Amino acid sequence: MANSLLTDASRRLDRALKYVTISEDTAERLKAPKASLKVSIPVRMDDGSLRVFEGYRVHFDDTRGPTKGGIRFHPQVSLDEVQSLAFWMTFKCAALNIPFGGAKGGVTLNPKELSKAELERLSRGYIDAIANFIGPDTDIPAPDVYTNPMIMGWMMDQYSIIRQQRSPAVITGKPVALGGSLGRSTATGTGAFYVLEAIMAQLPDSQKSTPKTVAVQGFGNAGSVVARHLFDAGYTVVAVSDSRGGIYTPSGLDIPSIQKFKADTRSVKAVYCDGSVCSLVDHTVITNEELLSLDVDILIPAALENQITGANADKIQARYIFEVANGPISADADDILEAKGITVFPDILVNAGGVTVSYFEWVQNRSGLYWSLEEVNQRLKKQIVTAANTIWQLAKTHQTSARTAAYIHALNSLGAAMDARGTRADYVRNS
Ligand code: GLU
Repeated sequence: MANSLLTDASRRLDRALKYVTISEDTAERLKAPKASLKVSIPVRMDDGSLRVFEGYRVHFDDTRGPTKGGIRFHPQVSLDEVQSLAFWMTFKCAALNIPFGGAKGGVTLNPKELSKAELERLSRGYIDAIANFIGPDTDIPAPDVYTNPMIMGWMMDQYSIIRQQRSPAVITGKPVALGGSLGRSTATGTGAFYVLEAIMAQLPDSQKSTPKTVAVQGFGNAGSVVARHLFDAGYTVVAVSDSRGGIYTPSGLDIPSIQKFKADTRSVKAVYCDGSVCSLVDHTVITNEELLSLDVDILIPAALENQITGANADKIQARYIFEVANGPISADADDILEAKGITVFPDILVNAGGVTVSYFEWVQNRSGLYWSLEEVNQRLKKQIVTAANTIWQLAKTHQTSARTAAYIHALNSLGAAMDARGTRADYVRNS
């Protein structure tokens, strides 16, 4: 496990440990997942052949409540990746004061290569394989990279068939028609915007009247929403990208047009749309690597993990980085960025809007009372801005990075919960 993602993730924990008073035993228990399940999912393909896919579900820690975390469909999914994502979920829920532990799931595949019917059979097969490992009071999945409300709907339906009772609270991020929460699909990007606005207002730079320039890597569910909020608030979004590459216009891109174009064609182009007519505007085609090193005020990595590492961190020129993806910066890159005076706001705070509204969805499913979009967004803002302010204050008090401060905050709440539960878990397996 020498250079695994999980080892890299837990290096952040080590940095925070010296600022908290939790016991060594508690800290030790937080370094390995509680349980990891690996499953094979046989799927009948449209041509009649059978393909067997590999899937995972990991419970990292459930001290603070049922475990929570998304399901990723991606060719790079591995047990190590799912374990590190489950680790981050544990600290994310603790940092946001959401009464859940951390989990994650994934299936190793490229969903773009499957037909809709194959994808549905795969999604149902995955739930068949993990049904005894999840549940509304034990472990609650949600969407993640390349999964969406439609897939969550199929999964909830399959779980309800297995249990022979309707179980909306087993999974969040469902279609609204099936008990999904209003505002869940935009929650990650909207939450990130609330954090960014709350923090920027406290930075000395906020006094400058010129609009801030922003580059956003990734134009998926999270990246496109945060880009749109920033555009609407008067920021100049100079570059965006998808997995195929990016576009750059120093005077700023028209984000609503690019969103519309992406919805129509599934591709990201530098367009300006007048009604339904979209035409290309002046721009430079750039690679994802070039986007990351643009000279901008704010860089938003909103794609996959490990985009900024020891190999390219010295090229980064942004003043502030807001991590909307999970784990986009490796631990060795943290030091290089800090030495360059770049302030990083961490994933476990910045992208926590998704799991926050997932929590609201679970509460609504269990109470049977559904909230308006305004109520969801108001509650999201309150919860995430409170966490952002507490973490930023801790960073100033301890003179640490915002990332270490976020882990300090999460550890304080996790440590208190672990201590309060007594010592039984230290000598009885699976307690
Ligand atoms: N996949 C999202 C995340 O990484 C959301 C998880 C959830 O809603 O449970 O935070």
